[in-house]
Amino acid sequence: MKKLLSLLLAGVMTLSLAACGGSADATDADNSAESGGQKYVIATDTAFPPFEFTDASGNFVGIDVDIINAIAEDQGFEVDIQSLGFDAALLAVQSGQADGVIAGMSITDERKQTFDFSDPYYTADVTMAVAKGSDIKSFEDLNGKVVAVKTGTNGADFAKSMADQYGYTVTEFKDSPTMYQDVIAGNTAACFEDYPVMAYNVQQGAELEIPEGMTGAGSDYGFAVKKGENADLLAAFQAGLANIKANGKYQEIIDSYTK
Ligand code: GLN
Repeated sequence: MKKLLSLLLAGVMTLSLAACGGSADATDADNSAESGGQKYVIATDTAFPPFEFTDASGNFVGIDVDIINAIAEDQGFEVDIQSLGFDAALLAVQSGQADGVIAGMSITDERKQTFDFSDPYYTADVTMAVAKGSDIKSFEDLNGKVVAVKTGTNGADFAKSMADQYGYTVTEFKDSPTMYQDVIAGNTAACFEDYPVMAYNVQQGAELEIPEGMTGAGSDYGFAVKKGENADLLAAFQAGLANIKANGKYQEIIDSYTK
């Protein structure tokens, strides 16, 4: 209903602009984007740096946040970014409470049953991580131990897929910081997390380390909408992503968090 209203409003605005003989110059375009542009609710994770996190000044920032904002600006729509948590973000889109999700979300065949994905915008492996100074260095060392994963993630699937083979059990957490804390406290022997996120946290001083070579489950990240819904938003994301890749904005965003 809201959507219909703003579509109608946009239509009325276009008509009235035309009636005044106003040409859509840059200023008019800006105004119409602000007042008549479609507003989408975009769900994301809470703490998944450098993709989404709250910085030292209390601002919610990150690669995903900057990408969706840059695309919204490029395509003339507005976003209401909601930091819900990873599995909650996916559920919000499935239940129609959010229009799209950008959360370092891996494009998988299973998820393609229920989501439509954009083109990939990033690629990442999953890695094991352990407490600093831990003597656990490999999957073999996990025998008889408990490992921590985040609910609904690729990392959780990866850890579960090897649990029988290496003789460990898996316990789930809702968010990454709580999962890391459990490993640092020594309750769990290791956690599984996307490599760039783990590397960023270690670089920022997390009391964790990344053993060599304990990686896998490589995947591409995509923006997603509920399957069969919000085709307009998905198309705008695609077009905007192509534009910000072509004009250097995409690379600028990546570099600002990874250099
Ligand atoms: N890339 C992983 C996945 O899609 C983790 C995403 C996340 O924790 N935000 O499952």
